[in-house]
Amino acid sequence: MNLLEREQKEFRELTSSEEARSIINTIKIRPVLKTLQLEHANNRILAEDIFSGIDVPAFDRSVKDGFAVKAQDTYTATEMEPVVLMNVGSIAAGCLSGLTLGPGEAIEIATGAPIPEGSDAVVMVEHTTSETGNILVLRAAHINENIMRTGADIMKGERVLRKNARIGPREIGVLASIGISKVTVKELNVGIISTGDELVQPGSELGAGKIYDANSYAVAASVEECGAHPIIYGIVKDDERAMSDVIDRALQECNMVLTSGSTSAGVGDVMYKIIDEKGRTLLHGISIKPGKPVVIGVVGDTPLIGLPGNPTSALSIFNEFIAPLIYDSLETTPPFKTKIRAVMGTGIRSEGRKELFPVGLIRGRVYPADKTSGAITTLAEADGIIEISEETEYLEPGKPIDVTLFGNITPVDLMFVGGQCPGIDLLEDLTGMNFRVINMGSSRGLSAMAGSMADVAGINVAGHGEYNLEAIRSISLHNAVLVKGYRREQGLIVRLESNIKSLDDLPGKKLVNRNRGSGTRALLDKLLEELAVKKGTTKTELIKTIPGYNSGSRTHRAVCEAISSGKAEVGFGIRPFAETMGLKFIPLTVEEYDFLINKEIMDIPQVKNLLSTLRSHDFTTGLPSGIFTYDRTGEIIDDI
Ligand code: AMP
Ligand code: MG
Repeated sequence: MNLLEREQKEFRELTSSEEARSIINTIKIRPVLKTLQLEHANNRILAEDIFSGIDVPAFDRSVKDGFAVKAQDTYTATEMEPVVLMNVGSIAAGCLSGLTLGPGEAIEIATGAPIPEGSDAVVMVEHTTSETGNILVLRAAHINENIMRTGADIMKGERVLRKNARIGPREIGVLASIGISKVTVKELNVGIISTGDELVQPGSELGAGKIYDANSYAVAASVEECGAHPIIYGIVKDDERAMSDVIDRALQECNMVLTSGSTSAGVGDVMYKIIDEKGRTLLHGISIKPGKPVVIGVVGDTPLIGLPGNPTSALSIFNEFIAPLIYDSLETTPPFKTKIRAVMGTGIRSEGRKELFPVGLIRGRVYPADKTSGAITTLAEADGIIEISEETEYLEPGKPIDVTLFGNITPVDLMFVGGQCPGIDLLEDLTGMNFRVINMGSSRGLSAMAGSMADVAGINVAGHGEYNLEAIRSISLHNAVLVKGYRREQGLIVRLESNIKSLDDLPGKKLVNRNRGSGTRALLDKLLEELAVKKGTTKTELIKTIPGYNSGSRTHRAVCEAISSGKAEVGFGIRPFAETMGLKFIPLTVEEYDFLINKEIMDIPQVKNLLSTLRSHDFTTGLPSGIFTYDRTGEIIDDI
């Protein structure tokens, strides 16, 4: 079959998501039973009802430190006229005293200790005073006061946990308190295999052209969240034989096998063929985007599912189709909300076909996660997915929508888009809030703000007029205010032994530049322009003499790493990372790093917190060297 035929085959066989769900519903996985020690049972699904074999507490016990008494003896007690009782002994927790209380007597008793025969109340020590062998009771006690009766918490024979309950900290506490040390759980072993010649295991060296295997770990964590047991088989090369062998092993050992990668119709993408050869293909390709390339098959009774390689797609497909299958098979439900109702924070245009669209959730509002990158950045920005139907052409801002969450997500307080800066990390630490920070450079920050896609844009744009304001005015932004931030030293970054001393030395030296759209790159351009004028040439001519000018690292740290590792000789950026990485920093200029904040949210507590932190002493003193606050820090300019 040639490539075209393959693509046609795939296209013809695309299954609608409804149909996909009903196909998946026909799959039944039967978990096995396994007995686990209590300490290993967290997050598992209980396979049996649990009845208590004992009463908890197993005896009447005192819930206070005080004196065991006969309630009747204390009825007339007041502070003015205390009742005098004879102290005849004491009982500690964990002991059986054998003592019996008679009329007119009291026995000292500790919290948790068994109530002695003859006593029906405990007077708190605070409501007594003592006097040579006697105690004075200052308040009347009623029957059963401060006594926890046998079985009051859990009664012998009572069902304490139900079959199919998810075992969490509370359940483990209950099981332990009735003396159970082992439980039988439903074990659903899910084998996880990542495919691709380009994959490298996290923790090892990343070679040229390689990427780290994200799917093994992200999918395993998702499987575990569902209450099943992931078994990671690691990375398999793009070699049909090797893949087939590992899949065979996983099929032997697991109740379900999930692979990722190699599912599209591209050259070398062979998963659909392997699944077809080993068993029965139920579907290949779901007509949704992203994540169309998925293969679902069964080998004997064991589902063998080829997830897409792209990590966001893999998680989307897992959450939409595989997680429900696991919950169903375990006969349990998710431990957290997997779907929440939110509202569109911005408009999203659809292509007139069903799409699964990765989105970020910011304070209950839905924003598209960057779908163009098709890489892990989308995953870092996405909290879940929304489903857009064929009929929908446009989802307007404010429209309510269901979001299927990528697991148990932490809510985001503020979304930053713009130039990367360690000052933002410090603000996040000091405010105690959870930021989503998307480092795309100042110009993306500006455009995100113009499209109301960011709460805050961090920008550093040099112009010929006032810092940042000139750039903002040139795009006539009306929905935001400018908050002056801080100053940052910008300069050349070189290795300690380098003989580069100034911009004049740049020609002939290998540069690691920042990404286009970054304010730092624009600042270097401005400096190079000035240098060109000084040298009587043009910037275009000048940059031809600087190899690496066209490179584009996305962060300051990445620039420093390129210099450290010898990939480049010189970079341009801020001081902090240069210093922490033991590089030389040659200061050239000082710039202004400011914040644009969406006008609509100026009064929300999160922004108030941000502004007061920006103006705080802790922020000023916490900034790394080369970044400093000044008299304009925190100043608000609202007529921009
Ligand atoms: P494939 O379908 O194998 O061509 O994979 C699609 C994309 O996902 C490619 O860019 C792969 O490099 C990427 N990819 C595949 N598997 C993984 C993985 N385990 N972790 C991260 N990215 C992956
Ligand atoms: Mg691949």
